Formats: sequence, C-alpha cells, structure tokens
Amino acid sequence: MPSNPLHCCRVCGLDHEYFIWGSEGHLPTFDICECCGVEFGYGDTTAQNCIDTANTGWAPKVQNGGIIN
Ligand SMILES: [Zn+2]
Repeated sequence: MPSNPLHCCRVCGLDHEYFIWGSEGHLPTFDICECCGVEFGYGDTTAQNCIDTANTGWAPKVQNGGIIN
C-alpha cells in the first residue's frame, strides 16, 4: 500500500506514519527525522533546501583531509 506523501520525510523519504508537516502540509511539527536528522520545518522548507540537506547532512564531514560543513 502506498504511503501518504505527507507522512514521508522530504529529504530521505522515511515514512513517519503521521503528518510531519500537518494534515494540510504547511504546519511543520519541528520533529527530527530519525533517519537523516533533518528538522521538519527547518531543513526541508524548499526543494533546494532538501537537496542541500541530503547532500551535506547535519554533522561536519571530513573530506580531502579538511573539515567541511
Ligand atoms: Zn529523513
């Protein structure tokens, strides 16, 4: 059975089985996704925002010997 898109994390797609942005899709709960760590209503406000969050995550990463955010 397909899950309700309003239940799914906008960044990683995890089905949270409740309305993470409210039943109308515009009242974020500000809960944290247990899969990718995004805060609903903060890191997933726009499509580009979601892409950036998916690419960088929330923890600093070590790349090429240096720390990037
Ligand atoms: Zn997620």
